[in-house]
Amino acid sequence: MITRFAPSPTGPLHLGHAFSALTVWQVARDMGGTALLRIEDTDSTRVRPAHEAGIYEDLAWLGLSWPTPVRRQSEHYAEYDAVLEDFGKAGLIYPCNCTRRQIADAGAVPGADGLVYPGTCRHRTMGDAQAADGLRLDISKVLERVDGPLAYLEIGSGAPDLIKITNETLLNTIGDPILRRKDTGDPAYHLACVVDDALQGITHVVRGMDLYDLTPLHVLMQVLLGYPTPVYHHHALITDADGKRLAKIDHSKALARYRAEGATPADIKTMIGWRD
Ligand code: GLU
Repeated sequence: MITRFAPSPTGPLHLGHAFSALTVWQVARDMGGTALLRIEDTDSTRVRPAHEAGIYEDLAWLGLSWPTPVRRQSEHYAEYDAVLEDFGKAGLIYPCNCTRRQIADAGAVPGADGLVYPGTCRHRTMGDAQAADGLRLDISKVLERVDGPLAYLEIGSGAPDLIKITNETLLNTIGDPILRRKDTGDPAYHLACVVDDALQGITHVVRGMDLYDLTPLHVLMQVLLGYPTPVYHHHALITDADGKRLAKIDHSKALARYRAEGATPADIKTMIGWRD
């Protein structure tokens, strides 16, 4: 059993991250497995070295440890580009530089990952792609290639649950996702995450419910790439007894600030209602 905690060093870790990290390491311990730390530093305009340093410091302070070297996605762009190259040859991606405004103006509806792309550039081909173009995955073409039905095992609620994925979900609530960002050429989260989970032999993905609606896309990409689909454990987000976002804690206050003000790891655990 191998799982991972995969923060993005685009800001400091907060109490929600502490809950998520503790859950990852607890699930690994309960299953006699290993928890890896992975740095998802692909958003080159927002990543900061200080935030990465803070991740190591905060997690160690919480008493967590991980095998080294840590995989840092910024060191592996060639691996993500190789996958894009294959998708290009198979005719599964197309260039797109639409702005959020253009997408909204085209009447896009909200979906699992922001607005569902309305397909404006879907007629474009890689033949006219420029180096700085964004690239999108053509979901309907992918669906022609993979043999359904798609499903994955969810264990976050305690009992294992087989979650079936419909084409309707993929086409109408997710839509064609960006896999390479325009201008920076950075690989998008979906691509780097799916590639890394496979390369690192992740058997169990433990992460927050905030990513639950994106899992169908990740499973589709795994099947397309011939990767195994891990078991998923989507944990609840920290909430109070009514299931509302915990009101009595400051969700925007960095763990490092609590620490600087004298809080102990035990204090953090109390604040987030953590039970070992
Ligand atoms: N880097 C993602 C985040 O910070 C986590 C991705 C994942 O666990 O799949 O939200």
